[in-house]
Amino acid sequence: MQTIRALNPLRQACAHFRAGAGPGAKLALVPTMGALHDGHLTLVRRARELAEVVAVSIFVNPKQFGPNEDLDAYPRQMERDSAALVAEGVDLLWAPDVAAMYPDGFATNISVEGVSDGLCGAARPGHFDGVATVVCKLFNQVAPDIALFGEKDWQQLAVIRRMARDLDLTAPHADDIIGVPTVREADGLARSSRNAYLSAEQRAAAAVLPAAMRRAIEAMLGGANTSAALAELREALLSGGFASVDYAELRDAGSIAPLDAPNGQARLFVAARIGGTRLIDNMPVA
Ligand code: AMP
Repeated sequence: MQTIRALNPLRQACAHFRAGAGPGAKLALVPTMGALHDGHLTLVRRARELAEVVAVSIFVNPKQFGPNEDLDAYPRQMERDSAALVAEGVDLLWAPDVAAMYPDGFATNISVEGVSDGLCGAARPGHFDGVATVVCKLFNQVAPDIALFGEKDWQQLAVIRRMARDLDLTAPHADDIIGVPTVREADGLARSSRNAYLSAEQRAAAAVLPAAMRRAIEAMLGGANTSAALAELREALLSGGFASVDYAELRDAGSIAPLDAPNGQARLFVAARIGGTRLIDNMPVA
């Protein structure tokens, strides 16, 4: 695996790997912020199945963190990550530092309306602008044929697809942005780099999140009133050890518009805090 930290060598390495893989070969990009776990590695394995050349980026993007968020505390473990990616047969690790990604004078912001509204867009102002801006840069830097993202961050996936469509991106084309189902622990908790912040007690309590979501989905599909099911879900989280609930909402899976009742296209989205840690999850209501 070649590890690259500057843009010119990255471009040369992409050209080199493409030439080596031959005509028609595909290059896949898996963007991450590192602290890799089985969720990330599932994206990498899927990339390996779909493309001849696999590039992974690790960049803790300051533009997607709010002023009071966990940018400084965010886990950084480059050596371990790098070993995990070598074991998965990754060809190229793109690991720029902040100055390489945002040189002095950087002044551009990509803001995607509509799908960014509400949920994490409301709870974390500026977050999706930061995501869209860095992902657009990563796409232009690596020029992949396909890019893979986790459904764990469903709204993020919707924002990135919208951006790719609206900006007529071709590397990758919006249709080649691939969502990968959420990887969960045995008790149902979605794998997340932020799970590392949880104490043993908090980690055990956190399993109430997917369990309460499943119960709410069953209730809604069984004809229960949506707001009553969501209120019960909030209550289950608060009485199960969560300190607060940022949101628990039913939304359209594609447009992310709010829904009053399940319609076959609905997804349940939740963000809640346990101790100082904010966890998110989403599931289809179908
Ligand atoms: P992050 O490093 O948190 O920015 O995540 C990098 C990519 O991995 C994003 O596309 C995430 O949606 C995806 N990802 C994170 N956790 C999971 C998970 N549990 N299952 C599937 N994909 C995930």
